[in-house]
Amino acid sequence: MGPGLPKPPPGLSPQGLLTFGYIVLLSRVGEQVASSMRTALFSSLLRQDVAFFDATRTGQLVTRLTADVQEFKSSFKLVVSQGLRSATQIVGCFASLYLLSPKLTGLLLVVMPSLVGAGALIGSFLRGLSRQAQEQVAKATGVADEVLGNVRTVRAFAMEDRQLEAYCTEVQRSGQLNERLGVGIAVFQGLSNVVLNCIVLGTIFTGGALLAGEELSAGDLMSFLVASQTVQRSMANISVLFGQVVRGLSAGARVFEFMTLEPAVPLCGGARIPSHALRGCICFQGVSFSYPTRPGYQVLRDLSLTLPPGKTVAIVGPSGGGKSTVAALLERFYEPTQGTVTLDGCELGSLDPLWLRGQVIGFISQEPVLFGTTVMENIRFGKPGASDAEVYAAARRANADGFIRSFPEGYDTIVGERGVTLSGGQKQRIAIARALVKDPVVLILDEATSALDAESERVVQEALDRAAAGRTVLVIAHRLSTVQGADLIVVLDGGRVAETGTHAELLRRGGLYAELIRRQAQEQPELH
Ligand code: ADP
Repeated sequence: MGPGLPKPPPGLSPQGLLTFGYIVLLSRVGEQVASSMRTALFSSLLRQDVAFFDATRTGQLVTRLTADVQEFKSSFKLVVSQGLRSATQIVGCFASLYLLSPKLTGLLLVVMPSLVGAGALIGSFLRGLSRQAQEQVAKATGVADEVLGNVRTVRAFAMEDRQLEAYCTEVQRSGQLNERLGVGIAVFQGLSNVVLNCIVLGTIFTGGALLAGEELSAGDLMSFLVASQTVQRSMANISVLFGQVVRGLSAGARVFEFMTLEPAVPLCGGARIPSHALRGCICFQGVSFSYPTRPGYQVLRDLSLTLPPGKTVAIVGPSGGGKSTVAALLERFYEPTQGTVTLDGCELGSLDPLWLRGQVIGFISQEPVLFGTTVMENIRFGKPGASDAEVYAAARRANADGFIRSFPEGYDTIVGERGVTLSGGQKQRIAIARALVKDPVVLILDEATSALDAESERVVQEALDRAAAGRTVLVIAHRLSTVQGADLIVVLDGGRVAETGTHAELLRRGGLYAELIRRQAQEQPELH
């Protein structure tokens, strides 16, 4: 440092350095806490049963991941930065208070526990209120999430104003709850101010008596008052902090609630059938099932059904008859309420779900969902380690290679969020390629062609027929025309198997299947 420059005031730079260090450290710890909470919560959410997601709105889960973790982090930082300071001040001052006058300090300590008790009581009431308020914010986010996620439907029905109103109602309700919480916190802080002032008055009064009895010198009483002022200020600080702590604690409780939730069906763990022994024979034996969200309503009743290896079995029947539910049970999205589902004689419950879903079963649903990344990555979703050549081969088998290569970016084309930039038939064929890349033994086709026009249906159907060869296939269909070639047709009505047989057998029998065929021929004469 040059001789002409003024020296910094002594003590200033160490303090500045310490402040700098402490803020950096605090924000680092805060961010680490927040990100590990987010990761832990997200991983726990991903492990939950499908039934959990049936019962919970996505927006509410997103709020827990975002706003609640944020709230927890803020109060954590505040408690560490200000709470610690106030707490150490209180402890230090109490020590000097005790040295000045043990009697007066003892008196203070008698009053304190009842105050702390009252504070805790009010605190638990406010925490309940805060939980309600946060739940309401989550509800509002849930509405927004649903509307924004389905904006095309909202637009098509010109429902913008109505949805805005629904959102407004939820937001207002959350505003009211938060205001009520604010009033509660204000009452708490006001009361604690009054009580703290009473303590000062009490100290002066009792100190005066001690002074008169010459048990305390005037100087000590003064020092005692000054020190107890510091205690008072620190306690006032803590009571201001209290509001934030209440919000933080209830936000934290909301985050931890889902973290500790254990799913009924774990994501992995269990036996695997060696690939050379795997045949793909599926048996439903006496299966009854009710959805956990609607326990009183039996969707499947005493259903028995065999899917022989390498054969195609089609399930048809009136809508709501439980066809998709059969597929959901096979994927082990839910557990049967009664009865068993077996693969090659092994109960599904004893098999490793990771292996079952990842390698054994390919699932192509009615409305395939693609992710907002490249076509390549979307197909590779079926088998994370697949080479480019494997992806191309799967796309070729799915009749998708041609149109993918016709895009300027080819396989690197980004498909847009939820695949909005592709036509229904194109999406469907990418989904088929995605299922085929893992070369599954069992293939489930859930009404795979019902949403397509005739031309796309033909191309997709061709891909599906090719995909079905050599696999056990379960087709769930509304269009009877697409399943006539199946080895076995099962007619499901009201959760029971009404009849089974080939197309010709069932027509000859003249039962429900023949009736469905007749009805569909009347509705869509051009198809028959
Ligand atoms: P299908 O495929 O034959 O049209 P589903 O298997 O989809 O029939 O549905 C059978 C019944 O189960 C219907 O009454 C439907 O309302 C009900 N259901 C379907 N999915 C759920 C669910 N996730 N939660 C509760 N009930 C459901």
